[in-house]
Amino acid sequence: MENNLLQSDIKFLTGVGPKRAEILNKELQIFTFRDLIYYYPYKHIDRTKFYKVSEINPEYASIQLTGKISNFRTEGQKAKARLIATFSDETGSIELLWFQGIKWVKQGIDPDKKYIIFGKPSVFNGRLNIIHPEVDEADNLEQKRSGGLQAVYSIPEKVKRHAITSKTINRLQYTVLQKVLHVIPETLPSHLLESMKLMSLKTAVKEIHFPSGLDELHKANFRLKFEELFYIQLHILKQKYMKLHKSDGFIFKHVGNYLNGFYKTKIPFELTNAQKKVIKEIRTDLGSGKQMNRLLQGDVGSGKTLVALMVMLIGLDNNFQTCLMAPTEILAKQHYNTISHMLRGMDISIGLLTGSTKSAERKTIQSGILNGDKQILIGTHALIEDSVQFKNLGLVVVDEQHKFGVAQRAKLWKKNESAPHVLVMTATPIPRTLAMTLYGDLEVSVIDELPPGRKPIMTLHMFDSKRLRMFAFLKKEIAGGRQVYIVYPLIKESENMDYKDLQDGYESIVRAFPPPEYSVAAVHGQMKAEEKEKAMKLFLKGQAQILVSTTVIEVGLDVPNASVMVIESAERFGLSQLHQLRGRVGRGADKSWCILMSSHKLSADAKKRLEIMVQTTNGFEIAEADLLLRGPGDLEGTQQSGIPFNLKLANLAKDGHILQIARNKAIEIFEKDNLLENQENSVLKRTIEFQKSQGFNWGVIS
Ligand code: ADP
Ligand code: MG
Repeated sequence: MENNLLQSDIKFLTGVGPKRAEILNKELQIFTFRDLIYYYPYKHIDRTKFYKVSEINPEYASIQLTGKISNFRTEGQKAKARLIATFSDETGSIELLWFQGIKWVKQGIDPDKKYIIFGKPSVFNGRLNIIHPEVDEADNLEQKRSGGLQAVYSIPEKVKRHAITSKTINRLQYTVLQKVLHVIPETLPSHLLESMKLMSLKTAVKEIHFPSGLDELHKANFRLKFEELFYIQLHILKQKYMKLHKSDGFIFKHVGNYLNGFYKTKIPFELTNAQKKVIKEIRTDLGSGKQMNRLLQGDVGSGKTLVALMVMLIGLDNNFQTCLMAPTEILAKQHYNTISHMLRGMDISIGLLTGSTKSAERKTIQSGILNGDKQILIGTHALIEDSVQFKNLGLVVVDEQHKFGVAQRAKLWKKNESAPHVLVMTATPIPRTLAMTLYGDLEVSVIDELPPGRKPIMTLHMFDSKRLRMFAFLKKEIAGGRQVYIVYPLIKESENMDYKDLQDGYESIVRAFPPPEYSVAAVHGQMKAEEKEKAMKLFLKGQAQILVSTTVIEVGLDVPNASVMVIESAERFGLSQLHQLRGRVGRGADKSWCILMSSHKLSADAKKRLEIMVQTTNGFEIAEADLLLRGPGDLEGTQQSGIPFNLKLANLAKDGHILQIARNKAIEIFEKDNLLENQENSVLKRTIEFQKSQGFNWGVIS
């Protein structure tokens, strides 16, 4: 059968053998012919141009020559041994040098044959040479590279040490494709190939390894990327569909006294249109009879918490308990305080459960939750412990979902017989492309408008040498009755060092802002909860004008009177973190400032990050930029939730347009045939089955 051939053990491929097979298995995860074929090049280089020896200039980047190789000799001893050969064409000769794989190189070269060599020229002992050139027999190459584009494969150092180079892989691709190209089964239905004018899989695979021209290479790339993204989307749609049909949800039919009372008497302002729109979307979910899984995205300060609270009150109106889970104790307490304050006089019983809740109190809360006396429970991870049993949990709100892993959230889902509705809030906007991929099975609501009256935040980048000017500015703001945050980076691997940075920083700030005129509070991760609390309170109440801290204040802290956020060593922060921190100011009606302090020594990426921060306050723009700069694997949170699929060619940051096309196509097909049972879609069904048999774990997607 066709697949059997593709499944052949790689060690049986001509040119591999057991020893190389072991390396390919271990280092490149290539076990079968199929694995090899899908080991795609990461780039292609143009090899159309040939140089003559007489034309070589040591300033050139890599060049290509054709001629004969002879006169092998070894110089130096042991570790310093090098192999030298003479390369000549009709215009002259140069030296070729090898420091590694000496034995192997010599064996492979026949002085009577013509070769093509490729490499960067340099000068050694006053003579032109090329170190570790790529060498190919000239005859072989004519047919292989008529387009002049050569595939380059990424080869880890460990593999290179065994004399397996990009060239080796390319040669193996040639061998394997000659054997199996004709049996590679098509994985996209012909109606798609035709309507989208896609290259067949066979052709695409051939072209990606051995392009016959730029155009063909481009088409091959598109076809292969499209396929990767398309199948991900298809899986997500399938999952979403199954979820909808499996999980019945509680119906929140009524809007009663809790919501109405709150809305009429407790909210001192008009909801923004975006808030109204989102509440409407959520209410539709809650009335649908299906379990809600909704992601609520909104920039810092856009009023998500208020939306969440109103949704929770709808839960209460329908005799369900609700809970709100926050990533840190400080945030949980702050939510507890804000919500208790907003609901005061409404006769609603609210509990707070965190890691530091005393055991007597914990017992009381737990029994209140179990017998239904407590209607709202707010807390940290403590909420997902098994000892927390609800009487009738109907809705879970998760704040700042980035800090929670998928597994932790999943535990909450199980706190009632039917899964409660779930609203996940995030202030770190997820770029559209990533959301489509990672959270494709969640509905997404976006609050894309800030409450009125907010003045934009001015962001400045200052070098450390301008510190005194910065201090003078802070004094002016403080004199006007404002408060200031000063944040130091926190790097997990070296908490002690950070602590020292913070300590030094704190001392220098106190020197510049001495008592009794000024009061400076400090918060960091190594403080006890009560100490932290005390320092925060000083700042919250306006008794301290300056709060020096590590990133513990990153999420959610709300002090409208604070007008300046100073971020020290800003080059050490990621974009989304900088954005989060900046969101701590601009909450009152005053003009606010974010000052990014950095040293003069900046990496290109760091410089770019700071520039982006100065240019825009739009969280979505920042998230897109972040994705481009860092790549999706690095994005905060995605590591925890774990991108479960291995994209070989497609890049979520760069191929957003292909993703969009893939998603549209997947939806189009799925809407017509959601079980993929039509004959014309049988290829899809078969491919999905095959992917399952290969252990793709799609279940991990949120
Ligand atoms: P988020 O959780 O999205 O960061 P919050 O819900 O904490 O934002 O809201 C930030 C601040 O804005 C809070 O002080 C809140 O009371 C206030 N707020 C929320 N909605 C409105 C609105 N529609 N008009 C005016 N202020 C609002
Ligand atoms: Mg918030």
